[in-house]
Amino acid sequence: LISMQGVSKFFDEFQALKDVSLCVKEGERVVVCGPSGSGKSTLIRCINRLEAHEAGDIVVDGVTLSDKTLDHIRGTVGMVFQQFNLFPHLTVLENLTLGPRRALGLSEEEAEARAMLYLERVRIPDQANKLPRQLSGGQQQRVAIARSLCMEPRILLFDEPTSALDPEMIAEVLDVMVELARSGMTMIVVTHEMGFARKVADTMVFMDKGEIVEIGPPEQVFKAPKSARFATFLNQIL
Ligand code: ATP
Ligand code: MG
Repeated sequence: LISMQGVSKFFDEFQALKDVSLCVKEGERVVVCGPSGSGKSTLIRCINRLEAHEAGDIVVDGVTLSDKTLDHIRGTVGMVFQQFNLFPHLTVLENLTLGPRRALGLSEEEAEARAMLYLERVRIPDQANKLPRQLSGGQQQRVAIARSLCMEPRILLFDEPTSALDPEMIAEVLDVMVELARSGMTMIVVTHEMGFARKVADTMVFMDKGEIVEIGPPEQVFKAPKSARFATFLNQIL
């Protein structure tokens, strides 16, 4: 579903991604970890073209990414951010119906029916008429996940979805993500929640200095890290 071949990304002189290759199959769950500044966010931002790469190819659902294929990519790939990025002046329901109405042309009734369906999936249908600031962080992040689901993407990207949350709210968001994974959604999740990774990841990716240093099934890479850098990293976060 996703194929990256020899992808490089520069910010001026600085190379944030170095010759990165990664393939993700339909229904595969990939967890990406690595130290701060290693290029994790840049990697997934290139996949939905929030950033443009300079070298290599990224093919998503059969389409090679370029400035001409932005509509395709926005329709295929959803993203959940660390900081939720909800519209503060809109209710939960309005946050959820905006995209489907504007981008997919759904009627108000259709968009609201879909919104309620996904609010139930993230277990907060009772919060539909509140404003984001009236919700807890965990609830806001679940709204953000529901908002992505309302666009019915084929791939969902998560950039440290729980790292802005208080510890007691992390589990409720991870539970929703585990359910999503079990439903067969193709997911790439940047997170340091290694319990989550062990539970759902088909593939574990460790990045350092713009490169994929280690990649494989979690049982394998956790048990026997091939690189000293990954072993050191695991020691630091576990
Ligand atoms: P973190 O764990 O802190 O989120 P990360 O692995 O997500 O880190 P990236 O955000 O992908 O790291 O950044 C990789 C490198 O690229 C960093 O050195 C960062 O300073 C640099 N970088 C990222 N975005 C930009 C930008 N818009 N302009 C210039 N440099 C950038
Ligand atoms: Mg990041």
